[in-house]
This record gives sequence, C-alpha cells and structure tokens, in this order.
Amino acid sequence: MVNSPFTPGIAAGRLPAETLSENFSDLHAPLDAHEASVAADRCYFCHDAPCMTACPTSIDIPLFIREISTGMPEAAAKTILEQNILGGMCARVCPTETLCEEVCVREVAEGKPVEIGRLQRYATDKLMAKNAHPFQRAPVTGKRIAVVGAGPAGLACAHRLAMKGHDVVLLDARPKPGGLNEYGIAAYKSTEDFAAREADWLMQIGGIELKTGVKLGRDVSLDDLRAEHDAVFLGMGLAGVNALPIDGSDLAGDAVDFISDLRQTDDLTSLPVGRNVVVIGGGMTAVDAAVQSKLLGAQNVTMAYRRGRDAMSASRYEQDLAASKGVHLLFDATPVAVHGDGACREVEFTNTQTGEAFRIPADTVLRAIGQTLEDVPAGLEQDGKKIKVSGAGRTSVPGVWAGGDCAAGGEDLTVTAVAEGRDAAEDIHATLMEG
Ligand code: SF4
Repeated sequence: MVNSPFTPGIAAGRLPAETLSENFSDLHAPLDAHEASVAADRCYFCHDAPCMTACPTSIDIPLFIREISTGMPEAAAKTILEQNILGGMCARVCPTETLCEEVCVREVAEGKPVEIGRLQRYATDKLMAKNAHPFQRAPVTGKRIAVVGAGPAGLACAHRLAMKGHDVVLLDARPKPGGLNEYGIAAYKSTEDFAAREADWLMQIGGIELKTGVKLGRDVSLDDLRAEHDAVFLGMGLAGVNALPIDGSDLAGDAVDFISDLRQTDDLTSLPVGRNVVVIGGGMTAVDAAVQSKLLGAQNVTMAYRRGRDAMSASRYEQDLAASKGVHLLFDATPVAVHGDGACREVEFTNTQTGEAFRIPADTVLRAIGQTLEDVPAGLEQDGKKIKVSGAGRTSVPGVWAGGDCAAGGEDLTVTAVAEGRDAAEDIHATLMEG
C-alpha cells in the first residue's frame, strides 16, 4: 500500500511536466569559460595548500586551478582524474563546504572560498565532452582480478587495475553500473544521465568486463571468485536498510527505494508522491528524499531527526538546501509509531528534550535511518557490522581486499570510496607483481 498511487493522499503528476523538469534540473549551473577564469583567478596557488590536504583523494588543487587559469582545462581534468577517476561526479556531490572549500585560505580570510568544486566540474566536463579517455593501459600482465560492486569504490579500483595492465571482471547485482551515483543520490545532482555516461567513459580504458545482475552470495561465492582470480576486491556498498523498530513500521517505505525509482524513471509525472510526507532520518539520503518529495509536488514535507541539528550527518549546506526548498526540519523527535489502517495516516513522535508526545499527519513515511551490509562473506573478519580492513583495504583473508561503504573505517562519502578503491588497486598491483 505504501506509495501506491491508489492510496488516499498519494498521487502521480501533482505538477505539470515542465515544472517537474525545471525542478529536477541541475542544482548548480555549470561555469562558463569566463566564469571559470574569474573563479580560478581567485586562487593564491598556495604552497602546502590546505585544500589539497583536505581532499580525501589528494587532488593537486592549486595545479589544476592554475591549468584552468592558463587556458588548459583538459590538462586540468587530467590532473584531477589521475587522483580521482570519478572527479566529474565528485565535483557534483562532494560536500566541498566541509572538505577543500572549508579550509581554503580565502574562506578562512574572507568567508568566500575559491569555488573548487565548480572549477573541478568545469574541467572534467570539458574533457568528457570530447569523449576522450586520457589514460592508457600498461602492457597486459596476464593477472585477472574480480571487483565486486560497480559503485564508486569498485569503479575506481577497476579502472586503476585495468590501467596497470590487469584484466578485471567487474560484477554488480544491479542492472547498471554506478552504485549510489546511479541509484542513490538526488536526480538534480546527476542530470543528463551523468552517472551512466561517466561509467561508460571510465570503461573506455579497456580491460574491464562488466557483468551486471550478479550478486555475491546469491550468484557467486567468495570462494569461487578467489579460485578463479588472482585477487578479489569487495566494494559492494551497503544494500540492506536498517529496520525501524516501532509499531506500524510496515506502513513506512524506504527512502532508498524512493530515490532509486526517481532516478530510474524517464517520466517524472508517473511517480506517485504523498501530499503529507514525513522522512525519518538526518543524513544525505533523508535530505535527498525529502527535497525530491517536495520537488515532485508534495504539499508538506517534514524531515524528522531524533537529535539536534549539529548531530545531523547531512551537512549544514544540505540542511539549508532542504529548508530553502520548503522542507520542514524537525529536531529532537523520536518516532514512536506509525498510525493508519492499511495505509499511513499519522506518525507519532516524542520530543527527546521535553518528553512531549505529538503526531504529524502523513500519507507517506520514508525511513532513511542508515544502510547496512547484508552479509559479511563467510571467512572475513568483521569490524562492527562491516568488513575489517587494514592498510590499503586488506581483509583478514589473503588475496581479498575491500573498500568503500562495506569496509570499516573512513567516512561514507563517494570521494572516500574512490580513494579506497584506488589505493586498494595500487596495493593489489604491488602484491601481485611482487609475487
Ligand atoms: Fe587556492 Fe584556496 Fe587551495 Fe589556496 S587553499 S590553493 S587559495 S583553492
């Protein structure tokens, strides 16, 4: 019943197609050449640049900005992509305001950083528009490596391994590569099918055989992969969704599914959305689900979080974005029950500060309270609910590496996953070539 177009209060096509298309257009317009030049000229090209240290993939930011300012955006793109092969997507989704731009000396001095993210997008878009791939494979080594998961960690790992001359078999449970980039982020952050185009472009390196619809544990075992390959990298992300242990939770839907449906539709007018939507959670997925519900035409959207604003994992920038789109942010609210008779009617909360109970009308409730690794493959040591790793993603089993969200440690960010995939690939390469 949840999210069905036949449930009272839930309807498709609340807004005309033109409005929807405008609502889901690029969140930030790309810079044109003149704007990029002006933005690049604000950089001091710092020695020991703090922006570079803050970047999880250690992109040489002053160098690429200098390359833009001297009229060489494609050289700038190569500088970026050498460190971060998904530099195009990261330019769109990185929380730059808490990474490179937060520590930019111009932010510290003037409260206005160099627009590093937008400059990165300018450079990488220029190069990708040519559909040219700037890297070449090394001579073939004869080594064969399985990479499980074609999300940011897996793609970065596969590309680096292919570049070193290894043959890569890239497996993903879903029909398309891209992982969260393709299925799990707001549509206005990845317009014009960018995630799919980027994955295609990345695979132009050659030497990567993509197999979709193949799930570890269901269609293939880790033992099989180890027997048939010289090494295995696990980067399957977190496919499970945390349960909401309250009465009536069966009336709630998953924010992850809502976002995925939205990303995969080619007709936004066909997507059902409630009139009164409540999203439970305080992370990026909660923000993406809440904002997109509003953009689809929901009248009242509330994002309810059990703690205070500062404890939210969504950045302040994302919180402000949600508020600017008309999402009501509710803090210190713990859900107690979802009420309804076959379909959701109200969500009951308790205020964690005052103990006061209150209800919010809702025809749709979406839970966005975190994702989890469905199963840790047998034989691998765990760290909490994730795969235990040491060094550059080495697991407890020889020949098996892991990175991205399914591995313990590191922040669950696209850029961190890219860095982990890349570094594991370097370690796999060094290990195999030593052998
Ligand atoms: Fe340029 Fe800011 Fe980085 Fe300095 S900290 S190199 S000014 S982007």
